[in-house]
Amino acid sequence: MSIFDFADGREGYYGQYGGTFLPEILAATIEELQDCFARCKEDPTFWQEYVDLLQSYSGRPTPVTHLANLSKQLGGAQIYVKREDLNHTGSHKINNVLGQGLLCKRLGKTRVIAETGAGQHGYATATMAARFGFDCTIYMGAVDVARQRPNVFWMERMGAKVVAVEDGQKTLKDAINEALRDWVTNMHNTHYVLGTACGPHPFPEMVSYFQSIIGQEARQQIVKVAGRLPDRVYACVGGGSNAIGIFQGFLDDSGVELVACEAGGHGPGSGMHAARLAYPDASVGVAQGFKTYFLQDDNGNMLETHSIAAGLDYIGVNPILVHLWENDKVRFTAATDEQVRETIKLVMRTEGLIPALESTHAFAMAIEEAPKMGVDEVILINQSGRGDKDIFTIADALDDKSWKQFIASKAKEYDLEK
Ligand SMILES: *Cc1c(COP(=O)(O)O)cnc(C)c1O
Repeated sequence: MSIFDFADGREGYYGQYGGTFLPEILAATIEELQDCFARCKEDPTFWQEYVDLLQSYSGRPTPVTHLANLSKQLGGAQIYVKREDLNHTGSHKINNVLGQGLLCKRLGKTRVIAETGAGQHGYATATMAARFGFDCTIYMGAVDVARQRPNVFWMERMGAKVVAVEDGQKTLKDAINEALRDWVTNMHNTHYVLGTACGPHPFPEMVSYFQSIIGQEARQQIVKVAGRLPDRVYACVGGGSNAIGIFQGFLDDSGVELVACEAGGHGPGSGMHAARLAYPDASVGVAQGFKTYFLQDDNGNMLETHSIAAGLDYIGVNPILVHLWENDKVRFTAATDEQVRETIKLVMRTEGLIPALESTHAFAMAIEEAPKMGVDEVILINQSGRGDKDIFTIADALDDKSWKQFIASKAKEYDLEK
């Protein structure tokens, strides 16, 4: 079974979700992209070129690691981790970005644009643009520019122009709107490298296709190292690209439960979270080019979202995952900020791993459920990225006073606002 089997006859739809809702002016450009992706998908040399590039440039295949200490301490299922944190630029984002870079070359375009929240996708896109020789502009909410200075620094060093978006809440969804505006103006030479499995068709399907490399590798690896398929696979869900990436390896395996972990923020009923399906606050709507569940009010105005992990802090969710959820193929849960703080401490101390705060949501749910499972059962967690980027947030969350003082003194020295 592949995600392409879910399309319900209307191109780009999964059940009633997905579609292409864009201004008429972008119709020819999006069709050009749909056609190009359709051709690439049918061309086995394209996939081989993609895999070769990931191997030589980003260190794939990323390994699967057994967490023997943590499994023993919890006294339940054996926990294994798929190590997307070991990719170049530190997360699974580079997979999608390198894939779209190859596609952009086939389209004959010379400029790329992207939106970014935490900066990981912008960082990966700037890297790809430097490598492929594309002009590059990254749109980032002004609040995020201030919060994520190290990523902005590297993007600019690699030759990207970083535009701080001053509209709205000055965060990710405002950056997406600005990137769409740029695309309308410059579509003749510009490809929009969308960072997650959301937005208008073909993006959800195309990003899922590139990220399927995670599940393809992981299924073979877990069978090799654990001697069997996992009972459960956990992945965190922002837009939903790393989750659909690993889940695709196990869609045919009816004995494998797929668990999606959203950002529970301050918890259910708090209004301070980004859980679209695990909590009952979201509803179906159309925004940013596609139809899915959004955190929105009764008038369709998007709500403010919150998460300790900037990469999960988004209003919408991958339409393919929604369709799988409605068909009971994926279970949705959410971890709160508090659970994430406790979990990252435990994982660092028992295993010497530093998962990204996003990935820590998947660890949190796995750690909650593992003790209730048998010692011969197997759990696989997708560690979507590494937590080095989160050093300031983690120092803050763990209330490390000496670090906070150091950061404050540096900020003063370099005249940065916090
Ligand atoms: C961006 C990001 C995510 C969330 O994006 P998805 O599309 O849901 O995968 C998760 N983990 C890391 C490390 C990220 O950078």
